[in-house]
Amino acid sequence: MSQDNADTHSGHKAASLLVVGSVALDSVETRTDRRDEVLGGAASYFSVAASFLAPVKLTGVVGTDFPQAHVDLMQKHGVDLAGLEKVPGRTFRWAGRYSADFNNRTTLDTQLNVFQDFRPKLPAAWLDSEFVFLANIDPTLQLDVLNQVRKPRFVACDTMNFWIEGKRADLGRLLERVDMLLLNDEEARQLSGLGNLPAAARAIRAMGPKAVVVKRGDAGALLFHEGGVFAAPAFPIETVVDPTGAGDSFAGGFMGWLARTGVTTPAGIRTALILGSVLASFSVEDFSLDRFRTLDLHAIRERFSAFADLVHFEKIRI
Ligand code: AMP
Repeated sequence: MSQDNADTHSGHKAASLLVVGSVALDSVETRTDRRDEVLGGAASYFSVAASFLAPVKLTGVVGTDFPQAHVDLMQKHGVDLAGLEKVPGRTFRWAGRYSADFNNRTTLDTQLNVFQDFRPKLPAAWLDSEFVFLANIDPTLQLDVLNQVRKPRFVACDTMNFWIEGKRADLGRLLERVDMLLLNDEEARQLSGLGNLPAAARAIRAMGPKAVVVKRGDAGALLFHEGGVFAAPAFPIETVVDPTGAGDSFAGGFMGWLARTGVTTPAGIRTALILGSVLASFSVEDFSLDRFRTLDLHAIRERFSAFADLVHFEKIRI
């Protein structure tokens, strides 16, 4: 288990955090480098990022070609894989290419493979999960998982253009039942049909979620919720290697913090947004989940503190 993720300094015992989403083999091209068939997937990034703050339970599916080393990595981080099925067939695959400045990504290939016939069945002990993250995957699977959890305290979900285009009705049914939606700026515009982000967020909140987080890559994230609007910058990183999974790592830091503290007030959600930015900023420093291999809570605390310095200013009378 990684660090002290179950018992926090405040003495509060971290609550249970459940995730469903893709576990993948990714092929990624940047201007200067590439990796083929490395560990990826929204649920993988989410779980390992969140594991630094709270214990995580993952439900998903892989094929018989999924390397044991990837299972070992997630287990080393204390991720409970009792809900990760291994079935005959090929693991989900995704391939993408980044523009030289990393601001644009072209999806080259998406193969659902074993996810096509996946019907998640949560282990009995997981039905009382308090914090639930429905990571990027078919909204019917996200709904399937949500239907099994008895009385979740806080449910957040992610989605992407692939599902907004292909599974709009299911996504609509899901949104009626979640507390928070995280999505990137392009997806917010696509989902709402509105170009202006605050207007798009308002329209999306009218679809169900009380809070909407719009991720804007290296421009940071905007939170629209009952406490108004809150902005978290992206931490300025000199050596971005691979932005894949930044959004999922962001969600991992965010939900990991909520589960760790149990605080879901507007102020708690704002702090969680900063933890999301912290974990995302580490994730982009290497390919795949590699940066997390050497990360520890000490480095997370240091960057959190650097974040506070980055955004601190005095509210003087001007
Ligand atoms: P992010 O960079 O945070 O948007 O997430 C990247 C991860 O999402 C990659 O590791 C992919 O394996 C995964 N992914 C890409 N497309 C899909 C999809 N249609 N459904 C589920 N996961 C996906």
